[in-house]
Amino acid sequence: MIEPLKHITAENIVSLEKLVYFLESQGETKQQLFSAARNIKLSHIGNVVHFRGLIEFSNVCRKNCYYCGIRKDNVQVKRYTLTEDEIISAAQFAYENGYGSIVLQSGENTSPAFIEFIEKIIKKIHANTAGKLGITLSLGEQTEETYRRWKEAGAHRYLLRIETSNPELYKKLHPNDHLHSYTTRLDCLLNLKKLNYQVGTGVMIGLPFQTLHDMANDLLFMYQFDIDMCGMGPYIEHAQTPLFAYRCTLLPLQQRFELTLKMIALLRILMPDINIAATTALQAIDPMGREKAIQMGANIIMPNITPAKYREHYLLYENKPCTDENADDCLTCLEARISMIDHRIGKNTRGDSLHFQKRQRNFQAYEPQLPGEDQ
Ligand code: SAH
Ligand code: SF4
Repeated sequence: MIEPLKHITAENIVSLEKLVYFLESQGETKQQLFSAARNIKLSHIGNVVHFRGLIEFSNVCRKNCYYCGIRKDNVQVKRYTLTEDEIISAAQFAYENGYGSIVLQSGENTSPAFIEFIEKIIKKIHANTAGKLGITLSLGEQTEETYRRWKEAGAHRYLLRIETSNPELYKKLHPNDHLHSYTTRLDCLLNLKKLNYQVGTGVMIGLPFQTLHDMANDLLFMYQFDIDMCGMGPYIEHAQTPLFAYRCTLLPLQQRFELTLKMIALLRILMPDINIAATTALQAIDPMGREKAIQMGANIIMPNITPAKYREHYLLYENKPCTDENADDCLTCLEARISMIDHRIGKNTRGDSLHFQKRQRNFQAYEPQLPGEDQ
């Protein structure tokens, strides 16, 4: 039996038992959780929301994750890849409209031509924006060498969700082959950290077979891995995927939504200075989903700035919002929505993870001096 807590802090919730207790909470305890997360965010980060202009530049993917609508074997998907010019103009749009950062996201492609294409684009965007526009990549599993090349070209953040920290559950969500290995995913995250990227990971919430224990372990995983950024959202079924067969076993969408808010709140309390995204999948369930997440601890929004004609072909899940709007519409409505919840947009700044900056300072402070160096 868990005693009610007077104050919720990282130290007093960092156990499997306590995290499960809060994931199950309702009524007053749930409100206590949300208000603790809100206060911790306001005191560490303030009421600033940073934008990441999301460019979903290709839906070509070599993988077959059982949950994802653009998986390789879904022959109903019309495959596309934006041209270099289209990607660069989307990045320019973000830069000129004060977004501060972009995310380049696509299906997983490891061909030498793709690696070079990305390297060239990063270099161009970096040069066009005098290195001021933040560049986040979300391009799946790659070799250490590829990650290094892209970092040297000018990218500095990488998002790679672990999807679930339970290796057994991971196996149920992916084909059993070398392309879909939990260990490789983890190794990639370790390589990204070694290369000094700002590293982001995350999970899906409300997956078939997933338990509250799994979710509590996901939070402990992110805490122990000492991540800099997180993007996690509800799992939403897609009819053209194998996992759709398990839709009757799922929690109702509203419960997946609420669990996601609780996960965000708990992570904010555990890791007060990381960047946490209010993901688009939340908005697919509740039109005010992202705003609610910001009030419970998130501080990043990723407006979709992919050219409108491609959006209907990047459907990872059903009911994906903003598929028929253009980027300007999204910007105008977002500015109004954010001020309605007493937050402001951190325009023209990259909004780097404070946690990462702190890690860097500590690393430099503790770096051992080599013999013969000035003391
Ligand atoms: N190919 C890259 C990036 C694109 S997929 C990668 O896999 O890392 C980006 C994220 O979309 C995935 O990490 C996954 O968590 C999420 N996603 C895929 N299918 C989803 C679904 N049905 N519901 C919710 N999120 C989904
Ligand atoms: Fe490809 Fe990413 Fe979808 Fe998996 S989740 S099928 S890697 S786009």
